[in-house]
Amino acid sequence: MTDNITKILEKKEFTRSDLVILLNENSPDGIEKIRSKAYSIMKENIGEEVFLRGLIEFSNVCHNDCYYCGIRKSNKNIKRYTLEDKEIIESALWCAEQGYGSLVLQSGERQDKAFIDLVVNLVKKIKKETRSDKLPDGLGITLCVGEQSKDIYKQFFDAGAHRYLLRIETSNPELYKNLHPDLQSFHNRVKCLDYLKEVGFQVGTGVMIGLPHQTTEDLADDILFFKNYDIDMIGMGPFIVHKDTPLNYLFDVYLKKKRYIYELSLKMIAITRIFLKDVNIASTTALQAMYPMGREAGLMFGANVIMPLLTPNKVRKEYQLYDGKPCIDEFSNDCFDCIQLRIESTGRSVAFNVYGDSKHFTHK
Ligand code: SF4
Repeated sequence: MTDNITKILEKKEFTRSDLVILLNENSPDGIEKIRSKAYSIMKENIGEEVFLRGLIEFSNVCHNDCYYCGIRKSNKNIKRYTLEDKEIIESALWCAEQGYGSLVLQSGERQDKAFIDLVVNLVKKIKKETRSDKLPDGLGITLCVGEQSKDIYKQFFDAGAHRYLLRIETSNPELYKNLHPDLQSFHNRVKCLDYLKEVGFQVGTGVMIGLPHQTTEDLADDILFFKNYDIDMIGMGPFIVHKDTPLNYLFDVYLKKKRYIYELSLKMIAITRIFLKDVNIASTTALQAMYPMGREAGLMFGANVIMPLLTPNKVRKEYQLYDGKPCIDEFSNDCFDCIQLRIESTGRSVAFNVYGDSKHFTHK
């Protein structure tokens, strides 16, 4: 059977059904062929260095109610916080001093003016205060603050952010509907991706793997969506059930399918790498939440970005989108040493003091 996998991997172009066959491959030999092909394509197109983005989860206040998310507005079991500017700037300076080169500012979604002003001012301050000989324009900034109007995206871009993450979670509108209240539409999310591109951002998106009723055909369509929307950066992760959400009844099913979902997530990374070649792909913390070596495995399957957690220790446990998030009892220094060792254990090295932009974007 793996002869068929070899034949598909030798093709120049894949069809949707090729993608489905690769996603359905479960033999160790077949999976290793897919992984090895992904790794060599990564090496050839973008090299083996790993880019770091320090992740600061600066607020867990969210006005949305996504059914799968631990910080959804209806969850009363967490303490809401928004970090002080000073704390965020301190984390950003620490990030620059370690040579990370870039950070991600992430929060729940809000559209009120106070929030927009907060983000714009933070971006400006971080850009200014992290300038150095090594980073003359300051840290590279990726924003992950949800759906906004085109005008607001432009304000963020003009302030100095140049990458934006907005996950679609699934490219299947029906599955999307099952995961979100009616007010949150798939159509609007995709429209936001268009706005981000028009404004000039490097655009990242991503999906969850192992959603209820999701098929490997859906996942093949997700990969095709990334291609059709000319996406620059991808962050995919397994669907992990959170106990304080309306989907918590799926916990037993999740436990039974955990290994399958984990392997499918790694195959998604590899097949996306093979198909799209020069995009940035993150090895997400959710992989490590499933299995301790999950992030290293993501790197071996073709990912090239890691996002170490820089959120101050005192609030980490209040920002859990899914259960079992790792590193919530660590300090940033511990994470730094740990991440570097973890990356080097895969035979890869960290690229310090660079933005690590998506080659797919710079090739356009
Ligand atoms: S997934 Fe994002 S938008 Fe949805 S509830 Fe969670 S933080 Fe808010």
